[in-house]
Amino acid sequence: MNWFTKIYNPVRKYQQDNGPLGDIDQQRAIRQALDIIDTMRAETPVEQEQGDAQRLMERYRTIFENSIIGLSFYSPEGKLLTANKVMREICHFDSDEGDAFFSEINLFDIQPFNEILDRHQVEEYWACSLSIIPERNMHVYLDIRVHPVLDSEGRLICISVAANDVTAERDMYFRVKENDRQLQKMNKAIQNYEHELCYMMENCQMQAWRISLDRQVLEFYHGLSTVVRSFTLDQLRGIFVNQEDDFVRALEHPEQAINKPLYYIGQMYPVVSLAHQTNQWVQINSIPEYDDTGRLIGAFGVWRNINSLMQKQEELKRETQRARESDQMKSVFLANMTHEIRTPLNAIVGFSDALPLLSTKEEKQEIVRVIMNNCDMLLRLINDILTASTLESGGVQIEKTDVDFAKTFEMECESLRQRVQEPGVEFLYESPYEHLVIHADDGRIRQILTNFVTNAVKYTHQGYIKVGYGLKKRDNEEGLYVYCEDTGEGIAKEKQSHIFDRFFKVNDYVQGTGLGLSISKAIADACHGSIGVESEGEGHGSTFWVWLPCEVKQQEKKSESSMKTQENT
Ligand code: ADP
Repeated sequence: MNWFTKIYNPVRKYQQDNGPLGDIDQQRAIRQALDIIDTMRAETPVEQEQGDAQRLMERYRTIFENSIIGLSFYSPEGKLLTANKVMREICHFDSDEGDAFFSEINLFDIQPFNEILDRHQVEEYWACSLSIIPERNMHVYLDIRVHPVLDSEGRLICISVAANDVTAERDMYFRVKENDRQLQKMNKAIQNYEHELCYMMENCQMQAWRISLDRQVLEFYHGLSTVVRSFTLDQLRGIFVNQEDDFVRALEHPEQAINKPLYYIGQMYPVVSLAHQTNQWVQINSIPEYDDTGRLIGAFGVWRNINSLMQKQEELKRETQRARESDQMKSVFLANMTHEIRTPLNAIVGFSDALPLLSTKEEKQEIVRVIMNNCDMLLRLINDILTASTLESGGVQIEKTDVDFAKTFEMECESLRQRVQEPGVEFLYESPYEHLVIHADDGRIRQILTNFVTNAVKYTHQGYIKVGYGLKKRDNEEGLYVYCEDTGEGIAKEKQSHIFDRFFKVNDYVQGTGLGLSISKAIADACHGSIGVESEGEGHGSTFWVWLPCEVKQQEKKSESSMKTQENT
């Protein structure tokens, strides 16, 4: 209620309720006052309307001036009428009141409006474009909206232009977009990296692991992030209860063990992979992990199965050792060789020189026998060396034919019997077959037999040397079994595994090259057979045997009586 209503309404009401008041003068005075008030009342609404309009104008102007987007109005002809503060800033007006440049140029002549606005029919237009006005040093991206303001009859009153400077947003948009692109690139690179890492780790039998002290768990990963196996520390302590080493001690007090970079190599129960059944060699590395406050929260590392690596290393060690031993043996062999060759040669040359000087037939026969023995020794020596070098360059050639081994064996034994010179040594052989036709390389079998017997003769000074053969099945395969038993020096148990190695001699000072048995083994191997020695140790004699698989074509056993006769011979 305004001041006028406050006064006028109670006076009017009083007059209506009480009728005309007091005396004539009073009444006149009141009527005059009311007339004045009525006159005032007739003029005030006009003023009020004007005031309201004024206030509205001011309010709109304030809103217009303080709008956060640039606003300007143009006359239908394209002349600038007004521009708000933001618009003046966008366009770099030279004063806050107005701008000579913008006052003079026409809306329809400046870019981009000259291309899209029809000055005869202005229509709504919206665009975002780069606006360059060199005269005003203006180079901005504007979000522009043109709106024709029409009166009730549809006539154009003015043109409003709203503009928003989106240069910063646009830059930011592109920066965000670029960041996004970089992020995607990085994500892809990380994915590739993880994929490659995964591949490498799998191929190196490596797994990432993490121990969490808070959760008291140890987790194994596929790659760097997928947990494949998980154990509580208590479970692990249960698994390794029987193991005594650094790893188990570390499990007892993990916080002490992992608070520095860890490096462990050892053999342990296969916790990582279910594929392994036996203890595995593992290499474990880790680095400690701390939270933001510097508190130790666990460790991260890799767990690598190095079992095959360690096995290879062991093999390598063995091979190196074997090579070293073989090298030593070779040196000994070369040193012996001079002696081995010179001894029979000297005997042959010396006794040959002496032969013409001898007068009796018996003496001459004895000397010829000695020369022949030494020739035989030399021949075998040269043969062994040649065979050994052939084996080195290309293996053993086996040429099989059908042969009556019973006959071969007996002939060979008769020849070998000659080698036994010691009076206290008896030579026996056992040939259970009248005929035994087998498909085999009899030359190679004789080579093995000769080697067995030559050795037996060398190492037996009392007792007997007995050779024999028979048929024996191994893994359902028929084969020829040949043996040579003697009551000689025997071979210590620990040396027996080396006896078939090249250049191996139990005693370096005894005559021999250490090649004969290795050649015999190579022959047995080439025939897919087996060879071995049985001896209760030094002084207990030995039995060398060989088994060679072969096809039996014909067999005829000897009668009991003929066997007895043979034993007696
Ligand atoms: P070698 O030419 O030295 O006899 P071998 O390879 O035939 O070479 O034999 C290797 C070694 O095996 C011999 O040096 C010897 O120490 C041992 N040996 C072989 N046969 C016998 C045997 N019957 N009794 C005892 N030791 C033997």
